[in-house]
Amino acid sequence: MNRNSLPLFLPTVPHPLGNPRQAPTPDSLSLMPPSKTTPPPDVPAITPQRLGRIRTLLLHWYDEHQQPFPWRGARDPYLALVAAVCAQQTQISRVIQIYERWITAFPTIETAASSSRAEILRCWGRAGYPRRAVNLHEASRICVAEHHGQIPRDPDTLLALPGVGPFTAAIVASFGFGDDAAAVDTNIIRVIGRLISGDLQPTTDTPRATIDTLAQILLRPGTADRWNPTLMDYGGRICTPRPHCDQCVVAHLCAARPRFAAGETAEPVRAQGKFADSNRDWRGRLMQTLRDHHATDAPPLRTTTLINSLTADPGTRKRLRSLLTTLITDGLATTTEGHTTLGFP
Ligand code: SF4
Repeated sequence: MNRNSLPLFLPTVPHPLGNPRQAPTPDSLSLMPPSKTTPPPDVPAITPQRLGRIRTLLLHWYDEHQQPFPWRGARDPYLALVAAVCAQQTQISRVIQIYERWITAFPTIETAASSSRAEILRCWGRAGYPRRAVNLHEASRICVAEHHGQIPRDPDTLLALPGVGPFTAAIVASFGFGDDAAAVDTNIIRVIGRLISGDLQPTTDTPRATIDTLAQILLRPGTADRWNPTLMDYGGRICTPRPHCDQCVVAHLCAARPRFAAGETAEPVRAQGKFADSNRDWRGRLMQTLRDHHATDAPPLRTTTLINSLTADPGTRKRLRSLLTTLITDGLATTTEGHTTLGFP
């Protein structure tokens, strides 16, 4: 694959690394390459010597500290796709649980494609952001129906699958196919923006176009399946929001190190609002009730019963009816003649 033909694979779900409560969804970030009318990004110069040292030292760190996740090194596009979707806006410890539950239930793309929406959602359980499961289900069906059961290697075709944005596509390309695709998630933004641009809070301080360009520059051709997890893990364990510069193997090459050493600190990224009583909270409760009911094989639940079982407050009941319509719009539930079911028939 011609590397120049690849999109800039930006972002997660937070990637599960980094601070998922603060990070934007990897695939919600733009991956559009600079247009002809966009001025070129202000990219700091990197000497070949410095570039070479950074690559070598970080890859060496990864070789010594890598975490043996099952999707890394498997060179399996399906496993890579599942892992990348599970990673969206989720901490790595929970990603593993979701991933293993999914792979156990749907070990192949064909088993995922042939399963019902309700089975998919029950497997997803309380993992959060269930729209991811819907997208993964739809993507599996498309791959089986239109791509002979294969996940497409062509970047544009890959990006056309539901739920596949730049970050997920980069993970599939690098882990699944071994192609040169630079992933960019919140952790990677932090490492690159500090190391090269000298910004303390690159998520907000470093122009996105600069990060994207630097990500491509830093990637040594032929190493994407090691380089992407290197930066992800480094941002998750060393160059964290409060960085451990004293443990950093590239501190002497880092543009931000003198600022941290001088006592400057990174401005916290705006914290996410409280979860309790949020729309996400109530959507989750509706979904849990539907999953529990579906597991009993009982007839469809009356919508009024569903709503009333969760709250006696008239205002909240009205709110739940509104939220239920969003679940239906998202393909997570179906309402027919006053009854609601998980997924769709
Ligand atoms: S020196 Fe500190 S800020 Fe720079 S890359 Fe290392 S951990 Fe991050």
